[in-house]
Amino acid sequence: PDKGFMVWQHEKRLGEFHIQLFGEKNISNAVSAVAFLHQNGFQADEIASALVTCYGANRRQQELFSDKRYRIFDDYGHHPQEIRATLRAIKEQCGGRLVVAFQPHRYSRTQSLLSEFSTCFEEADLLWVTEVYAASEAPIADVNGQRLATTIAEAGQPTAYAATLDLLHEKVRMAMRPNDVVVFLGAGDITRVAHQVAADLQMKSISHVESFRKILGEDSRVFENEQLSTRTTLRVGGPADILIEPASESDLSQVLRYCSTENIPFFIMGRGSNLVIRDGGIRGVVIVLKNDAMSRIMLKGEELHCDAGARLKHIANAARDAGLTGLEFLEGIPGCLGGALRMNAGAMGSATFDIVERVRFMTRDGQIEEWQSVDMGAIYRSCSALKNKIALGAVLRGMPADPETVRTSMEDFRKRRTTSQPSASSAGCMFKNPAEKPAGKLVDECGLKGMSVGGASVSKDHGNFFVNDGSATAEDMIQLLNQVRERVHETCGVDLAPEVQIVGE
Ligand SMILES: Cc1cc2nc3c(=O)[nH]c(=O)nc-3n(C[C@H](O)[C@H](O)[C@H](O)COP(=O)(O)OP(=O)(O)OC[C@H]3O[C@@H](n4cnc5c(N)ncnc54)[C@H](O)[C@@H]3O)c2cc1C
Repeated sequence: PDKGFMVWQHEKRLGEFHIQLFGEKNISNAVSAVAFLHQNGFQADEIASALVTCYGANRRQQELFSDKRYRIFDDYGHHPQEIRATLRAIKEQCGGRLVVAFQPHRYSRTQSLLSEFSTCFEEADLLWVTEVYAASEAPIADVNGQRLATTIAEAGQPTAYAATLDLLHEKVRMAMRPNDVVVFLGAGDITRVAHQVAADLQMKSISHVESFRKILGEDSRVFENEQLSTRTTLRVGGPADILIEPASESDLSQVLRYCSTENIPFFIMGRGSNLVIRDGGIRGVVIVLKNDAMSRIMLKGEELHCDAGARLKHIANAARDAGLTGLEFLEGIPGCLGGALRMNAGAMGSATFDIVERVRFMTRDGQIEEWQSVDMGAIYRSCSALKNKIALGAVLRGMPADPETVRTSMEDFRKRRTTSQPSASSAGCMFKNPAEKPAGKLVDECGLKGMSVGGASVSKDHGNFFVNDGSATAEDMIQLLNQVRERVHETCGVDLAPEVQIVGE
């Protein structure tokens, strides 16, 4: 936090001081400490260097855990005035959603300050109240946590009641989202839950990341809290808990086995060019096949044996250089082979499965199999067999042709793209083309080009592309998608199906 403040003695400036705690109350306390020490002969610089290392008392804004996603505070506050000041200070300092769990302290206090309690949690975005901590008092009829929760809710603040601390722990864990600041308030044993949640997070992040690093070869990369907006062409999306780029098939199968044993969900991602990842990111493990060893392209006669991580444009270039036609359409699709197989990506009248002979894949339990193209269940912009399998690679077939002719047709495709598609960040076509007419045309005919939500807008160049002006969130994109769908349905009676995959939380 590093809150700086000046202290003056009458007309004389004593100096500038910094503390690690936040909120006016803490600054006011620190000023008293400065005054006291100064009166007792300490120099301003001595006081300043002592203050800056003071983290305050335990259970007063005590930060038990902090990483890129969560901050957990334990605070003794149990009086409405303290609670209001603490929440305001934390909200001002931390931003994010404020998730609060409160344990009332003593029946007598709960009874006498009931109406003050009903308005002191205004800063909270989510609030739970648990049962009263008696502190050796005898219960008072009709004074309990449930009544307090109801009173706060009636005053307009949505509040839930958790009858026990175990239930409170469970509810808070279920509700937590990345960027949340979670504050446990109360002078009773609620501190146990605060420590439990902090320990859960500590264990979770350290142990899995460390275990992956131990079981995988040194060329495989493991990232923690990796921002996915930097890994998608649309430039939106929150973090992945863990992101792994395996450097071999055996490492990939290790990852799958670990996830299965530990019950961790995983998601497989290519170049992120057909994804809208929600702002909360993806829980569990995101696996990205992009290591060079998973992206090879090998020519064998008229066949190209390609790994799933191979970029489509590199495959198109390799085919061209080998004098093979039929793969030119891959040139401008910014994905890799794995994503193109899953999506049966296509352009200029061709689709991926037109050129696929066989697909190698790994099942979720780490087994490797190879199937003929016809058995993969490929349809327009989807391949059902890959919904729950991981493509490792495919054998693609081209037809012999003059490399110069192939080059010319690739150049022609490239020009057609650059003149019809926007250059801003996008995920390509947002909607599948319905039978009636291309989705972009329908959007255009409904007058929706340029329509926007936040930083997301329908491209003025192409009605089926949504572009990000650099400030869009996934929520903007999803709202825009829903609004466009609704308007097209109202105006033309056509229900557009999204082509992009919306994932995460
Ligand atoms: C500017 C632009 C132009 C585009 N033009 C076209 C176009 O002309 N035609 C077209 O069809 N698309 C187009 N797209 C969309 C996109 O490029 C394609 O759908 C591409 O095939 C997605 O590949 P990817 O590697 O980016 O996959 P991702 O977007 O990362 O993933 C897409 C899906 O594939 C799955 N997946 C990824 N890898 C694997 C794997 N190894 N095994 C199993 N499943 C996997 C993911 O789980 C996800 O469900 C365009 C996108 C952009 C941004």
